Amino acid sequence: MTGAIAPFVHDAPAMRVVSGSGSIQRVTDETDRLELGRVVVVCTPEQDALGQQMAAHLGSRSGGVMAQARMHVPADTVAGAIDQSERWGADGYLAAGGGSAIGLAKALALHTGLPIIALPTTYAGSEMTPVWGITDAGVKKTGRDPKVLPRSVIYDPDLTVSLPASLSVTSGFNAMAHAVEALYAPDTTPLVALMAEAGVRAFAHALPAVTADTADVAARTVAQYGSWMCGACLGMTTMSLHHKLCHALGGLFDLPHSETHTVVLPHALAYNEASVPETVTVLSRALGMDGAAAPSRRLWELAGELGAARSLRELGLAETDLHAAAQMVTRLPYANPRPVDQDAALTILHAAWLGESPSAS
Ligand code: NAD
Repeated sequence: MTGAIAPFVHDAPAMRVVSGSGSIQRVTDETDRLELGRVVVVCTPEQDALGQQMAAHLGSRSGGVMAQARMHVPADTVAGAIDQSERWGADGYLAAGGGSAIGLAKALALHTGLPIIALPTTYAGSEMTPVWGITDAGVKKTGRDPKVLPRSVIYDPDLTVSLPASLSVTSGFNAMAHAVEALYAPDTTPLVALMAEAGVRAFAHALPAVTADTADVAARTVAQYGSWMCGACLGMTTMSLHHKLCHALGGLFDLPHSETHTVVLPHALAYNEASVPETVTVLSRALGMDGAAAPSRRLWELAGELGAARSLRELGLAETDLHAAAQMVTRLPYANPRPVDQDAALTILHAAWLGESPSAS
């Protein structure tokens, strides 16, 4: 740290992380540590096989498999899962999967207060945050509650080898978005800045390697480290414009989560860049840039190099839907280094819809 340090309060939630190839075998150590005897495994229908594998591994400690997690945690799914959890006599949850599985486990914990062990299989970073989200009637509500923060997180890179290259890339961008917004959050701290830089640097190195060889466990391990760093940043700071744009798009139009983050991030960052020179310096370093170009431009290029969609229209959004998203984003106040009115939100969304090179306007 060479520049001035602004006053700060650093309030980090507890983190227990078990990491390494083969660490899936340590799940029962973690359930025993928490003295759990009836653990319900939560996963998506697509990852039912993993859910069943974990239930078999838990043996007599298994309380069943709930394979109904869905993107954006719909309220009716949550209601059904709460009922099931009570009927099955759960005393804890093992969330095996990405942000959707962890999101449903969090919605359950919010209601029941039971502990979560997370076994992440994407890079979204939800496992490191006390942030929950539930979507009801097209509106994604989010909140923070220490109850939903997983008590233990097991990062086994072997579980991510099956994650397709395309989803690995967009999931990595989703994680980097947490780090980017943490750097300019009103409650950022020097330690958050270090973790954000480490997280972005990890993904800048790991994502090209993972794309070249999805079975590269060493690169997968670096990406999971990035996920830990970036997720923890989100857990410690307030979200800004980028996350609000993505929540509006996800809640209103059910757009795919990580793909939407990948498209929006360069544009949201470009809008803020002139207001946050220190963030630009840190990101330029993390992305290995020589300082001439803007990090927003480099992220946009990287997404293109790694084959990700760079426009909202490619994700199926109609141009006429942009107004509703802009309206939703400006309806509620939130922290952002540069003020955002409806015209500004619409301009950002329109550039993201076209997928053009990001600009500060
Ligand atoms: P996801 O969990 O929805 O997974 C996407 C798809 O990939 C699913 O079909 C899933 O079954 C499959 N998948 C996951 N891991 C796989 C693997 N290793 N191999 C093969 N297939 C795999 O996607 P996501 O992007 O991780 O999560 C998105 C959700 O997480 C959103 O609802 C978002 O709001 C939430 N989220 C929450 C936070 C938070 O802090 N609360 C942070 C980030 C994301």
